[in-house]
Amino acid sequence: MDIERIRKDFPILDQQVNGQPLVYFDNAATTQKPLAVIRRISDYYLKENSNVHRGVHHLSQVATEAYENARNFVANYINAEDSKEIIFTRGTTESINLLATVMRSWILPGDEIVITGMEHHSNLVPWQQLCESSGGKIKLKVLPVNLDGTLDLGFLEKMLTPQVKLLAVTHISNVLGTINPVKEIVELAHKKGVPVLLDGAQGIAHAKVDVQELGVDFYAFSGHKIYGPMGIGVLYGRFTWLKRLPPYQFGGEMIDRVTFKKTTFNELPYKYEAGTPNVVGALSLETALRYVQQTGLEKIFQHEDKLLKYATEKLKEIEGVRIFGQAPNKAAVVSFLIDDIHPYDLGMLLDQMGIAVRTGHHCAEPLMNFYCIPGTVRASFAMYNTLKEVDIFINAVKKAVGMLR
Ligand code: PMP
Repeated sequence: MDIERIRKDFPILDQQVNGQPLVYFDNAATTQKPLAVIRRISDYYLKENSNVHRGVHHLSQVATEAYENARNFVANYINAEDSKEIIFTRGTTESINLLATVMRSWILPGDEIVITGMEHHSNLVPWQQLCESSGGKIKLKVLPVNLDGTLDLGFLEKMLTPQVKLLAVTHISNVLGTINPVKEIVELAHKKGVPVLLDGAQGIAHAKVDVQELGVDFYAFSGHKIYGPMGIGVLYGRFTWLKRLPPYQFGGEMIDRVTFKKTTFNELPYKYEAGTPNVVGALSLETALRYVQQTGLEKIFQHEDKLLKYATEKLKEIEGVRIFGQAPNKAAVVSFLIDDIHPYDLGMLLDQMGIAVRTGHHCAEPLMNFYCIPGTVRASFAMYNTLKEVDIFINAVKKAVGMLR
């Protein structure tokens, strides 16, 4: 992969922060956007802007066609059987909230939901709220994480009792980097008749996502984690599921006929897209996915893996380091602590040296409690990062640790 050429597509990387060249290692929080995506956004507003689905005029037809083409593109990208299975949302969080709201017709008092101990709050709180709204009659069960950051599938099998109506699990952990064995998990769940939601916020950018091959019933992701814009995301749902579940929000677009007495609802996917959608978001998400495809998924993963392994090896040479997440199958995230140095202090000093990492609980407080830590420092990589940047980062960590010790 020609990283220097790729970096030219991301002008934001070419800047100084606190007098040092920026090293952007906060990609699990959000990725930077290539020029193609930025231009797609401005082109839309320069030439195509119009509301979709409602107009007979030229611009409305252009915008509608582009929006529906983006849906088709996303469907092909994740190998959905039908583009009606692609619902555009604001992002992973909204996708999961949508599902948790409409699943109230399927998950009833006496039922159970299974999540795991490594979930982001976005794939925990919506399910917890669903349980609370039942007055405790729906139970949330949590599959524990092993110390190395893997999941115990034998234990999962035991947890999938006849009461379980949904298994919600992350594809890739944003803290531990663990790539969960999704196919096996889905097989176990389906054997017991349990549908599976994958939180794909990290998965979409660091793993091949083929929803049919994975066998999942629902897959949620955000555009901004895969070089696309903020404010757009996707809920993939199997057609049979989305058809049987009720609407989420009510208003324009999602209706079929309205009278003061009664309203009937539109077909999929519009049933789940009330109001004016984020048209430009969908269009530029398509551009981002095309960019990834053209660069080559496999090449990107191999490059990120090289960065991950190199950074991990170099970090391990630092005395007192603890790395959280040692799964054999890991994606481009390394979370660590050094001695009892507070992650925030280390993060602040790294920032002084131009390095952007994330510190804190990473929206996974229960996981921090499991390891009895306040948080971690997290470096996360993307296609445009380099081994040289890892060296700069490692030297900066050593320098910061020297100052803090
Ligand atoms: N799940 C995981 C695993 C994530 O990493 C994130 C983002 N940090 C989310 C959910 C939430 O994504 P968003 O904020 O884009 O809705």
